[in-house]
Amino acid sequence: MLQRMGSKQSGTALVAGGAGFVGSHLCDALLARGHRVICVDSYLTGSETNVRPLMNHPGFRMIEQDICDRVVPEEPVDYIYNLACAASPPQYQADPMHTMMTCVVGTGNLLTLAEEQGASFLQASTSEVYGDPEEHPQREDYRGNVNCTGPRACYDEGKRAAEALCFDLLRAGRVDARVARIFNTYGPRMQPNDGRIVSNLIVQALSGKPMTIYGTGEQTRSFCYVSDLVEGLIRLMMVSPNPEVPVNLGNPGEFTINELAQMVLVMVPSAAGLTRHPLPMDDPQRRRPDISRAKDLLDWEPAVPLAEGLQQTVDWFADSLPTGAGGPSPAVFAENTATAHTSMRV
Ligand code: UDP
Repeated sequence: MLQRMGSKQSGTALVAGGAGFVGSHLCDALLARGHRVICVDSYLTGSETNVRPLMNHPGFRMIEQDICDRVVPEEPVDYIYNLACAASPPQYQADPMHTMMTCVVGTGNLLTLAEEQGASFLQASTSEVYGDPEEHPQREDYRGNVNCTGPRACYDEGKRAAEALCFDLLRAGRVDARVARIFNTYGPRMQPNDGRIVSNLIVQALSGKPMTIYGTGEQTRSFCYVSDLVEGLIRLMMVSPNPEVPVNLGNPGEFTINELAQMVLVMVPSAAGLTRHPLPMDDPQRRRPDISRAKDLLDWEPAVPLAEGLQQTVDWFADSLPTGAGGPSPAVFAENTATAHTSMRV
């Protein structure tokens, strides 16, 4: 059994993708727990705004770069969290080759760094490794139903390859690697233009535009509030011994997209109803994590119900969008619409 190499509870953590939606919350939580944090981000989909409040923190360092290039931190690192990758379907499909390279070359670079430094490594994998699942809910031993030639393949297959790299180096005794399979996550700091369902619906409702529903809206997802996810990620990194298996992290509550839209309609007075669009190719019909493994190994389960987390997210968007509660400026909304209309639809 490979033992934890960076054994200090408050060592230095490198967070790749640390300026992104989940990554920036992870940086906050690690600093609050006494870690030093080195954030690595290319700002391709992350935002400097997310980490601006941390720039003057004595324990925080920023390295602006792509993980496809070798990362050379200025101090030893004990933990490496790899969250660096575009994660929403329109964004990861915008430059599919770069998405695949980020997953394979980028993860390979960070695993090499972990081996050199004797650092523990956590890979942010995804429920997308299950593809359009034929088993429900999804347990970690389900091998998935991914279309390797479809528009989601750059991400799905990239993340599957990254998992393979992690487990190869773990089996070889070279890296203390851990793998979290993250299900749909939402909360403050989602980008208004990232094209995902929660941000799209809220931004559209706040700006008085009809909410875009793809397909019948009867497809399901399970939505985890970001603080719950971050707690799960840290527990998976810290648990000893290494579980040596992937661990699902997500909220097992399952909702149709229509149900989610109804909740947003109730929460946002300016909401202007729904508009239907074609379903994107290979869009999974059902998704819900079986989190028994996370409960057993990490003593973890989500604490924030969807209604509560959604209200907090609505409040955050209402405060942070350019024109406040009245909704985003026309420029932001135009950008949002453009991003959501990449060539993903069939
Ligand atoms: N979706 C939708 N309207 C939108 C954005 C997404 O109906 O404006 C649907 C999408 O087709 C999918 C679900 O919502 O069935 C979740 O999509 P998202 O892009 O958030 O992530 P996914 O879980 O598909 O990776």
